[in-house]
Amino acid sequence: DADWSGLQVVVVGLGLSGFAAADALLERGAAVTVVSRDSTPLMLERAQILQVLDATVIFGDDVPDAPPPGTHLVVTSPGVPPVNPFLQAAAAAQIPVWGEVELAWRMRAKEGAAPWLTVTGTNGKTTVVTMLESILRAAGLRATAAGNVGLPILEAVLHPEPYDVLAVELSTFQLHWSRSISPYASCLLNVAPDHLDWHGSFEEYRRVKGRIFDRTQVAAIYNVQDHTTEHLLEDAEVVDGCRAVGFTMLTPAPSMVGLVEDVLADRAFVPDRQRNAAELANLSDLVGPDGTPPAPHYVANALAAGALSRAYGVGPVAVRDGLRDYQPQPHRVSTVATIDGVRYVDDSKATNTGAAAASIAGLDSVVWIAGGLLKGADVDDLVRDAASRLRAVVLIGRDRGLLREALQRHAPDVPVVDISSTETGAMAQAVRAASEHARAGDVVLLAPAAASMDMFDNYGARGDAFAAAVRDLAGGAQ
Ligand code: ADP
Repeated sequence: DADWSGLQVVVVGLGLSGFAAADALLERGAAVTVVSRDSTPLMLERAQILQVLDATVIFGDDVPDAPPPGTHLVVTSPGVPPVNPFLQAAAAAQIPVWGEVELAWRMRAKEGAAPWLTVTGTNGKTTVVTMLESILRAAGLRATAAGNVGLPILEAVLHPEPYDVLAVELSTFQLHWSRSISPYASCLLNVAPDHLDWHGSFEEYRRVKGRIFDRTQVAAIYNVQDHTTEHLLEDAEVVDGCRAVGFTMLTPAPSMVGLVEDVLADRAFVPDRQRNAAELANLSDLVGPDGTPPAPHYVANALAAGALSRAYGVGPVAVRDGLRDYQPQPHRVSTVATIDGVRYVDDSKATNTGAAAASIAGLDSVVWIAGGLLKGADVDDLVRDAASRLRAVVLIGRDRGLLREALQRHAPDVPVVDISSTETGAMAQAVRAASEHARAGDVVLLAPAAASMDMFDNYGARGDAFAAAVRDLAGGAQ
């Protein structure tokens, strides 16, 4: 704690992680100033708590352009882009800028701290860390998912009853502000374009994703079917002796959920060529509560979670049990109802093109509800690959024109319904239109490939609106 007392720290942002950071720093005797552009009621409440602990809190237009003289450290929140003038000013003044994750890494116990199993990727992070948590607990370990998943990593690290091991979800934003994290095992699930508006370019986004592997101690896990993940691993600096572990849906057989640990002998950091493939679970272990078979990307996620658990030394039986017990997160390919032979699936969490592509690839005949905020993404590949599976498309949200143009280019014969309203009721309109085009055996899929904030508070509210509209439809059908 001597490391922190007397330090002058500015915390940028008063969301969950900014609050956790300020609180932990104050408790260790640092002098903390919190600056926040927004001042929601929740933030005002947090400010009051921090002020009692002697923090200075500055909101809105009163926030200075640069850290005050004498600032030793800036801790920033994931939502703030690197081009933010305050952060730029900090950099210009050579003040280190950390994220809350870096702070957590530095604050963890020096002796016997829980190792981190870290996960990033464009899609599947939350699914994988929660699967991993389920597996670790099935193995009798005190474990929790933390990081980008809801529980701030600082709270997990400083928890009064220490954990044995942490399943850490890291967003690209969090990786961007990390410097020294050394995970026990790390995993990069996939890399597809997303958040290009925040990172500036796909190149930059990809480069930051690759930082997940840096300083990995025991096993760095990549996706054999996504070459970018492998190339990024080749460029990463892992600890001597760390193994490269690939997971794939292609071998040994697609019908079996197995773990393929493919040790790459030609890598300098691989000490031996030990091959180690164990049968961990069956596809039947992954069937959802509604009896629907798992989507291919769900199986890939199970492989990644299995690989991370195995790297940590968890036995195959616990992997199977943890996957069987796993309760899928809402709004991720979840069946809402089947009406007249048509299955209605809520994948509102498909907020980028990669997620929507994975969702559609697992289905034969789809009435696709898509659109919203595309965040600068190019939708041509998505639409081209999806074209042969589309019965019809219903477009919603602000950027639907870009999807409509891509559909004209790659799927000119597929009927398109355009819902121009962005008001309440637009989703009900979309679901009704979709139901009119669907035939028995089809899936009506909400996988927008876009963020929701043009029409909804968040993806959860969008999924709830879809589910409500489907239930109305079911009521009418009876
Ligand atoms: P994240 O935490 O990375 O956003 P989630 O587990 O919340 O990931 O899933 C986000 C979206 O991506 C969902 O729409 C989900 O269906 C889809 N998805 C999940 N896993 C994968 C994957 N391995 N590849 C592609 N899409 C995926």
